[in-house]
Amino acid sequence: MPGLASSSRQELFTLINTVVEGGYCIGCGVCAALPHSPLTMQLDDYGRYQATLPPQGTLSPQEEYQSEQTVPYLSTCPFAEGSANEDELARDAFGDRCTYHDQIGYYLETYAGYVAEGDFRGQGSSGGMGTWILAELFRQNQIDYVVHVQQQSEPGDPLFKFQVSSNLDEIRHGAKSRYYPVELSEVLQQIREQPGRYAIVGVPCFIKAIRLLAKVDPVICDRITFCIGLVCGHLKSTRFADMFAWQCGIPPGQLQSINFRKKLPGRNANRYGVEVVGMSNGQQVTVTKPNNEFFGFLWGHGFFKYQACDFCDDVLAETADMTVGDAWLPQYVEDSQGTNVLVVRHPLLHQLLQKGQETGRLQLDLITAQQVAQSQDAGLRHRREGLAYRLHLKDQAREWRPQKRLQPSKMRLRPKFRKVHQVRMALAKASHRAFALAIKNRDFNLFKQAMEPKIKEYNSARKPYLWQRLWKKSTIITSK
Ligand SMILES: Cc1cc2nc3c(=O)[nH]c(=O)nc-3n(C[C@H](O)[C@H](O)[C@H](O)COP(=O)(O)OP(=O)(O)OC[C@H]3O[C@@H](n4cnc5c(N)ncnc54)[C@H](O)[C@@H]3O)c2cc1C
Ligand code: SF4
Ligand code: SF4
Repeated sequence: MPGLASSSRQELFTLINTVVEGGYCIGCGVCAALPHSPLTMQLDDYGRYQATLPPQGTLSPQEEYQSEQTVPYLSTCPFAEGSANEDELARDAFGDRCTYHDQIGYYLETYAGYVAEGDFRGQGSSGGMGTWILAELFRQNQIDYVVHVQQQSEPGDPLFKFQVSSNLDEIRHGAKSRYYPVELSEVLQQIREQPGRYAIVGVPCFIKAIRLLAKVDPVICDRITFCIGLVCGHLKSTRFADMFAWQCGIPPGQLQSINFRKKLPGRNANRYGVEVVGMSNGQQVTVTKPNNEFFGFLWGHGFFKYQACDFCDDVLAETADMTVGDAWLPQYVEDSQGTNVLVVRHPLLHQLLQKGQETGRLQLDLITAQQVAQSQDAGLRHRREGLAYRLHLKDQAREWRPQKRLQPSKMRLRPKFRKVHQVRMALAKASHRAFALAIKNRDFNLFKQAMEPKIKEYNSARKPYLWQRLWKKSTIITSK
């Protein structure tokens, strides 16, 4: 076997043995989209996309040959050893014109606001800025296509998929957050086959993967001209959607569509509804309920989280040209219609926003980078102090784990909070297994029964010490 070919094969097996076998594959699909890659993206038993090697002996001689070509598996995977980190990628892209903030990355300007024009805000998950900026790039003839996530209508398909939109209707139809696994391999192939200028939307690790791919793939580099990032708490398996549906009488396999972010007038923006459509006892039903009426809705419990998300340090999509998220800040959260936070890093996007504001199509407030970070306080704590502790645990167990920008440490957390993080990890892990058991036995209660004691343990670990409660009480009394 020629030297290069065997080193490529070595890379492939290193990727599988570290990232995939270690549980750090986020299912982005970039490795499966590399020319000559034998990998495919498959949903695993827990409803998570994972890079998968075909079973031994199932490759044709031609495919065997292809799998021995030079393929940059390690330098393009966002979790592999040897790929550039977010700081390095972002410095290359924005370092010369942006300011650096250690929690949100580089920025030109930071805003909170929403779209005043049309029904972008009403149709969006938050303030509608995610779809507006894509539509505006298209209307200003800056792009030909948008790559984002659309609802699927074919039975048997996953509910959501990355798709290419080529007109305004399709772009607007893609609005809404999909807390659901998606992967890029198919759509990257389409981009290679169809010349044009593309804007792509993704969670931070997907945008990082695109940036890494662009470094080795001139066609992708040339064609993907804008990356729009979504702020990210963590990714869910398909079971998150099933969990909501089952509580509305729609069993797994019978869910046809889901709106994870239905706006409910009069309630705080974070008290949104979940709407499901599917078959219940042979009849199609549509059910909408406020999120807090569902068991398992709290993101802090991390149900159905990928393990990779516990080893991620990018909350604000630091390698994206612009990032959109929710303004979880007291001055905005009471507006049920939703308000975005925005981190702008690309001058052209900044110009479009300024024009939108001048013409009254956007309502934007300048806020500080620190306020943007505050809007994601819980996510950032989990991925800073919490991550340092999880890295420490992995090192202590002498297990492979991805290189992060942070150093491993247990000292950044008091012992009480170390326990909180341990239970949180256990909650996520248990949720996958418990739901699989519930599906096997066709009984949602088995899931609930398995998770409730763990939630109790988590809540008790988080409870303030008695002295903290007494101290709080005494400060309230003395300040009266
Ligand atoms: C998995 C996930 C976790 C998130 N966690 C947080 C969080 O912790 N804090 C926070 O502030 N915000 C988070 N967000 C972002 C938030 O839910 C909104 O998407 C964001 O505020 C944009 O709202 P909007 O109204 O501006 O966008 P919209 O106008 O609704 O447009 C959203 C755009 O994103 C695309 N899209 C939706 N889901 C995906 C996906 N999975 N992958 C790629 N593209 C997608 C849509 O196709 C559409 O083009 C998360 C989003 C996702 C998908
Ligand atoms: S490139 Fe993406 S899909 Fe492939 S192993 Fe890495 S995280 Fe998984
Ligand atoms: S938390 Fe990190 S690893 Fe998980 S989906 Fe979001 S960006 Fe990717």
